[in-house]
Amino acid sequence: MNLDPKLVQHIRGFGQPLGAEAYVFAPQTPEQINEIYELARKSGKSVSFVGSRRSYGSPMMTPDGIVISLKSFNAIGPILDSTVQVGGGVTIEQLWRALAPQGYWPKVVSGTAKVTIAGAVAMNIHGKNAFRVGNIGEQITALDLVCPNGQTSQGVGSMGLLGAITSATLKLQPVKSASLSVLAKVPRTWEEHFSCFNEMEATSDYMVGWVDMQHSSGRGLFHSANYSPHGAKLDSKQMHHGPLVGLLPRSEAWRMMRLLNRPGTVKWINAAKFASARLLNSDKRHLESLAEFSFLLDSIPGWERAYRTGLLQFQAFAPIDKALDIFRQLQTMQSQRKIVSTLGVLKQHKASPQILPYALDGFSLAMDFAHQDGLGQLCSDMADMVIDQGGRFYLAKDSTLTADQYQRSLPPGALDEFRRLKQKHDPDNLLQSIQSRHLGLT
Ligand SMILES: Cc1cc2nc3c(=O)[nH]c(=O)nc-3n(C[C@H](O)[C@H](O)[C@H](O)COP(=O)(O)OP(=O)(O)OC[C@H]3O[C@@H](n4cnc5c(N)ncnc54)[C@H](O)[C@@H]3O)c2cc1C
Repeated sequence: MNLDPKLVQHIRGFGQPLGAEAYVFAPQTPEQINEIYELARKSGKSVSFVGSRRSYGSPMMTPDGIVISLKSFNAIGPILDSTVQVGGGVTIEQLWRALAPQGYWPKVVSGTAKVTIAGAVAMNIHGKNAFRVGNIGEQITALDLVCPNGQTSQGVGSMGLLGAITSATLKLQPVKSASLSVLAKVPRTWEEHFSCFNEMEATSDYMVGWVDMQHSSGRGLFHSANYSPHGAKLDSKQMHHGPLVGLLPRSEAWRMMRLLNRPGTVKWINAAKFASARLLNSDKRHLESLAEFSFLLDSIPGWERAYRTGLLQFQAFAPIDKALDIFRQLQTMQSQRKIVSTLGVLKQHKASPQILPYALDGFSLAMDFAHQDGLGQLCSDMADMVIDQGGRFYLAKDSTLTADQYQRSLPPGALDEFRRLKQKHDPDNLLQSIQSRHLGLT
């Protein structure tokens, strides 16, 4: 094993305009992972892990270092007592398609199915059912990590900084059909939006809100969904889409979105979406495919290219009693600076134990922005406001926090506990990323 220049690849985070070069290795066994650690020690290089690069920032990159992909760890075991053992390199898409014919669904999935199980565990992903079942960490019954200093099963939220996640055993959701029964509500204000969540919390399996950030009210579209016994049987072929509106191939749809993705235009598209939802969808129920509800954005491949200058997401987590106030302030700050998010997504959460926690009993607002002048300062000021009120941040979505901001946002003792684990499992500090250095973690 050596640093062959043919192994050099360019790696970049999701939607990011820039990336970095690194030596990329794809080991097939735990022994080979240990050999790569040894090579890194001898050559003085640092090591990071990469999944499907669906994190928005740089947690999977180490410039001029060694990047390990576990795509060969791709086994999916048999279902035993509603659990399954899965290799770290398996994607959620491969997993749900394998489970579907047996009538099971992963308990927690993210908004894209492209992520790997290891990437999902390393970041402790959440779904639209986080308020009910917590994050993926709560669905794990066994975990295997190969660390520079031996092995461990502690890896939920480890961000690739403790060791290689080679496999996880996950709890599964038995489902009777491929459909969800989805109820739409069309709130006109932030207060109405939060009332929808309060009202539906006890009876929903999933909840999510779209917020029109271009309007000062907090208006949007709220969906509550429940597993339905009706509808087609779950099979592995859902989400094989035809062309949009019968004509436009989905692979080309991002070009149309790019044309429309301008501040003046987005405002009118959002207004039209809200008005038509109020007219047609308010308080109505419909059946929707579980896969399409879960992975809406995957139906338009390459949609992120609609952002000419690259895409940045800012996701703020706010405690339950402060959420309304914090999100209203975020909207005001954006409209004052005339840098307004194109898409706002509201979710409810509960605290989830992990190494460096981000989820809390409260809500999150995820906001997409096109890279532009002044955005860095806006994000920094928004982050300070959120932290001052007890809010937190999810590193899978972050690319702007400073070390001081991130460390101030953490609960007391979390950083010390991370450092203790780092010293135990990676005493030579081999495992690092651009993000971990920037945030003062390695
Ligand atoms: C369109 C879109 C929608 C999304 N929706 C959601 C959502 O609803 N909820 C949510 O929680 N997140 C969401 N995300 C974020 C995404 O789920 C996370 O960023 C996830 O971690 C990406 O996994 P990945 O396989 O792409 O890993 P990468 O992004 O490549 O890496 C993520 C982290 O995992 C580490 N890692 C990867 N493989 C290993 C390994 N084998 N061993 C140890 N560490 C490893 C990396 O070092 C890095 O720190 C979304 C992202 C996109 C692009």
